[in-house]
Amino acid sequence: MIDFHTHAPAWRTASWLTGATFGPGAFLDFMDGAGVEVAVVLAHDGLFDPEPSANDELAAFVSAHPARLVGYGTVHPRRPGAAEEARRCFLELGLGGLKLHPWLHGFSPHETVLDPVCEEVVDAGGILLAHDGTPPYSTPAQLAALARRHPRLPVVLGHGGLHDCWREALAVTVETPNLYLCLCGTPPYAARRILAGAPSEKVLFGTDAGLSGRPGQDYAVARIREVDGWGISTEQREAMLVHNPRRLLERAGWES
Ligand SMILES: [Zn+2]
Repeated sequence: MIDFHTHAPAWRTASWLTGATFGPGAFLDFMDGAGVEVAVVLAHDGLFDPEPSANDELAAFVSAHPARLVGYGTVHPRRPGAAEEARRCFLELGLGGLKLHPWLHGFSPHETVLDPVCEEVVDAGGILLAHDGTPPYSTPAQLAALARRHPRLPVVLGHGGLHDCWREALAVTVETPNLYLCLCGTPPYAARRILAGAPSEKVLFGTDAGLSGRPGQDYAVARIREVDGWGISTEQREAMLVHNPRRLLERAGWES
């Protein structure tokens, strides 16, 4: 399976997300134990301090095993040079996408300052994944509006609306051709409803592995097991865990 939402270790940040410092070897051990072949690895320190150095460190982490770890950089779109840093993430660092965190970084997906950043992702053939599910920013409808402004940009709702916005996440995923939905931290009752209503080719799955204080990432292993209780068909399961994420990763240049 492909885990479309994991995080790099916390090398510098002590935060309410806790986190631990571990090497790529320990992360691959977690993946092997959990049956994860490929992981999309998002920023951790970069969530709290979206500086270019965080992208450098993320790129170094995933470079240990590029066939199995696909890094997504991060920028703060209001900071000077954000679009240039987005370009550097693809052209220099070889990352596969960009992660935005409007809620933590305090900007709205409606801000036009995002447009040059999104254009860089389109030009590089990359994917944009955004945190979602936490008003006032990062609502699925705001991110769907961003996707509609950039119809050639694949946009992934990183959390399927979480507890507060999952109905909205389902509705806008159905309505917006270039919007995808990653079930990650989405409560099980909501995941079941989303899987029953969303086009099966648009649903992804993620564990948020990497945020744990323990390198074994036991909560991520539990989230994978949780899928067994969602009552979905084998076809739906394979679409979500294998075919859909693979299609998106390959579109962005990843080769197994
Ligand atoms: Zn996350």
